[in-house]
Amino acid sequence: MYCEQTQKKWNKMHKVHRNKLKQASKTKYDLIIIGGGITGAGIALDAASRGISTLLVEKKDFASGTSSKSTKLIHGGLRYLKQLEFKLVADVGKERAVVHHIAPNLVHPMKMILPFTKTGKLGKVSTFMALTAYDWLANVEGADKKQMLSVEEAKEVEPLLKDLNIKGAGYYAEYRTDDARLTIEVIKKAQEKGATCINYCEVTEFIQSGKKVEGVEVIDHLSNQKFSFKANQIVNATGPWVDTLRKKVETIKGKRLQLTKGVHIVIPFDEFPVKQPVYFDTSDERMIFAIPRLGVTYIGTTDTVYTKNMDEVYATKEDVDYITDQVHTYFGKTFIKKSNIQSTWAGLRPLIYEDGKDPSELSRKDEIFHSKNGLLSIAGGKLTGYRTMSQRIVDIVAKRLDNSKECRTEKIKLGKEPFKNYKEVKKYIKSISKKLPSSLDQKLEAEYLVSNYGKDAAYILKKSSSFNISDAVNLLLSELNYVIKNEMVMTSADFWIRRTGRIYFRIDTVNAFLEIVNERLNSIFDWTNEQKEVDLKEIKSELQKTIEFKNS
Ligand code: FAD
Repeated sequence: MYCEQTQKKWNKMHKVHRNKLKQASKTKYDLIIIGGGITGAGIALDAASRGISTLLVEKKDFASGTSSKSTKLIHGGLRYLKQLEFKLVADVGKERAVVHHIAPNLVHPMKMILPFTKTGKLGKVSTFMALTAYDWLANVEGADKKQMLSVEEAKEVEPLLKDLNIKGAGYYAEYRTDDARLTIEVIKKAQEKGATCINYCEVTEFIQSGKKVEGVEVIDHLSNQKFSFKANQIVNATGPWVDTLRKKVETIKGKRLQLTKGVHIVIPFDEFPVKQPVYFDTSDERMIFAIPRLGVTYIGTTDTVYTKNMDEVYATKEDVDYITDQVHTYFGKTFIKKSNIQSTWAGLRPLIYEDGKDPSELSRKDEIFHSKNGLLSIAGGKLTGYRTMSQRIVDIVAKRLDNSKECRTEKIKLGKEPFKNYKEVKKYIKSISKKLPSSLDQKLEAEYLVSNYGKDAAYILKKSSSFNISDAVNLLLSELNYVIKNEMVMTSADFWIRRTGRIYFRIDTVNAFLEIVNERLNSIFDWTNEQKEVDLKEIKSELQKTIEFKNS
């Protein structure tokens, strides 16, 4: 953490953070949410929009847990049909359209190809039945409905299948997103509706009065100061850490979490040039995605039981070998050189433990835990279903608070000036592309800026003219200024990992501009030399984690 030993002086830009902490310690809230992943963010937006006074605290950065480490799909979970999880598939399947509607710049429709081979588990009939059920359960309409492709059609749609012994393919619609950006957009909207959201603020203890939990003790990691916050209701939305906090108030009996690790690798697009996402089966009857994005292809995921340090999760050599072996087995001639893997990420699934089940068979359903002292905890579920998960828990909180307002997040569009639909997003990307300097990859930069920042892309571009270094650096510094001002960025890692995803998808820019960003943060935040060094060390260590598998 960024200031372990030093008692830091409060500096210019952290003033807002400090004021929030001070204000929060003087306020009695209706609701405190612990955890700033997508679940906590969704709860904050739902609650605040029902007029519930809400405080959210996150121990590191927003989305620093599982919510920046997923496959980054807004999807119905086709494979859960195999586990007969019809309700889950129907719920999240329907949510795809809702999440696309509320954030069309951030949730991009795409077609996924699902090939079946002579030797694989999937066959024509089973694929047809699964995709038909999927369409039906999720109310899929029009051009998004599944198609079945012949061998020739499949090979034309995806030339990488050309030399494979496939028997055909299913072709269906899913959505690609950026999990951390979705989380931060929901957080920003929650704040707009009146919630207070604070990062780098860890809950260390619960405050009890009689038998009821009525507050939390926290430590602010930017100043090492302790605070107490009070509320009528407290929700533990800490994902993989849910049981760690539950244990502070009760002995856990019955249902509990089992964590599984999921790893993704990122390679240059040319190494594995899939034209659209491919979903293929593995030798051990699992499924793997290969997804093209901004000049790279990312592939994942693994699913292995995890019992080690939850704060230090990274891809090992075994994880990476598993993924590359599966690609080699399936795609034959495609060969991924380990030295060309430019980044990886690893996340923990907070699944609900069931006796005798293999990790990949455990349900992805969410679960609400009621503690005797009133603490509510929620875990499990999917990024895709965050809104309905939030609704379920806020319904309970609202009832306890005698608040009769209903959930209306289905209608709350994300972003300051939201897009009407995807057609408008595409038009906007084109218009931004034309305005970008010709020295840059205009198409890539425009897609990146609009996906991440919506119509604020134009603001970032305009403000880049106030710098005079190079086109690439001017745009980057303008982006940095924007996220510091609007998105509570406190460290280099917040910028490179959670706000921009560059550590995964644009690693060249991280390597090239690491020092420049650290310098800029230093001048804005007025850091001491020690703070500046700690910041640089932290991001370098995060970079190392993404290629740690090369050392193991
Ligand atoms: P988290 O994001 O982990 O948030 C919990 C937060 O609580 C963390 O930020 C943590 O720092 C904070 N916290 C912990 N302790 C404290 C404390 N004491 N005080 C304050 N804060 C604390 N779902 C999909 O829909 N689509 C996908 O493509 C998909 N792919 C996935 C792939 C993988 C490999 C994995 C692991 C999951 C995937 N999921 C996917 C599931 C999805 O990512 C998760 O369901 C979701 O991100 C969980 O969010 P969360 O907010 O519950 O947990």
